[in-house]
Amino acid sequence: MAETTIAETNVAQTDIASEFADPGQIRSYHAHIYYDPETREVAERLREAIGQGFTVELGRWHDEPVGPHPTSMYQVAFAVAEFPKLVPWLMLNRDGLDVLVHPQTGYSYDDHAIHALWLGTKLPLLLDGMRRRQAEAGHR
Ligand code: ZN
Repeated sequence: MAETTIAETNVAQTDIASEFADPGQIRSYHAHIYYDPETREVAERLREAIGQGFTVELGRWHDEPVGPHPTSMYQVAFAVAEFPKLVPWLMLNRDGLDVLVHPQTGYSYDDHAIHALWLGTKLPLLLDGMRRRQAEAGHR
């Protein structure tokens, strides 16, 4: 059986650091709370509780689909430090609503399509525009 030396372990850690993305590039987060006419009241209750209990910026109600979002939703913007408070709370209290949580790294397409976290059902986002803009900006 081969022994792993300290030197080899350090090499492995260096490789991991360079091969994987650094979460330090996440500037902030969004949570998008989806609803429809039947669940709008649930979304209202949730919105009120989020506004009272957390340090967030609540976006406007979008009863009509906007941007990549396929159904009605509102956005909740929050700082990195708020993530471990707000996201577990949403896990337990979303009350059947679908929620998209995505980081803000500066690459919108990646943030929505690749790095996103979904609570509930993953909805089909309309990402062609974001993909095009990101490509035009020279990323992928
Ligand atoms: Zn967003």
